[in-house]
Amino acid sequence: MATPEEVIRLQLAVRARGVTDLRVLMAMERVDRARFLSETFAARAYEDVPLPIAGGQTISQPSIVGQMTQALDVQPRDKVLEVGTGTGYQAAVLSHLARRVYTVERHRALTRAAQVNHQALGLSNITQITADGSFGLPEQAPFDRILVTAAAEDPPGPLLAQLRIGGSMVVPVGVSDHVQTLIKVTRTDGGYEYDELSPVRFVPLVEGVEHD
Ligand code: SAH
Repeated sequence: MATPEEVIRLQLAVRARGVTDLRVLMAMERVDRARFLSETFAARAYEDVPLPIAGGQTISQPSIVGQMTQALDVQPRDKVLEVGTGTGYQAAVLSHLARRVYTVERHRALTRAAQVNHQALGLSNITQITADGSFGLPEQAPFDRILVTAAAEDPPGPLLAQLRIGGSMVVPVGVSDHVQTLIKVTRTDGGYEYDELSPVRFVPLVEGVEHD
């Protein structure tokens, strides 16, 4: 468990990086990030840095989770799709803001870890699925909000197609190992509007599923 000082320190770091939406800050405060890390890294859970998880992947930096969640502007009735579950930290934050969260991960071992973590926290409005998330989740579409936590060269077409009209998607775009740009895509009656948000760095969106 975090000490009160660690919790406040992390909240200050997240706020210093532009996260001011109270609903987002409160949702983040309700999620103990140490739960989503192995024993080796749990002690560093309250530092504002990305850290290693299984499968050569990373748990996102808290301030980035905050910025992406704030940009997504989740509403209480929303059905949200997350692509790139990892161990489930971002999905847990979303679960406090949305009606229902579907989260898709290509590493089966990570999907399982996320399931265990969410169950232990009593988060019952999250469904974890092993699949290639670049194809979205056609059987549950359309979504009010889509959050992609791995970088694509372009926003994947199936995800654009699975956005509800009036809905929006936040996705890092660009080639991995270079600076990527976080963008927000909003689906309108007539098409899609694109806004550039900030430079970011994510692991790449990779094709296919790993049955590890
Ligand atoms: N959202 C996570 C961050 C995970 S890092 C958190 O809250 O900490 C990005 C994740 O995206 C990795 O676990 C990686 O395996 C996954 N990923 C990459 N390509 C994917 C794809 N095509 N479909 C589903 N998941 C993918």
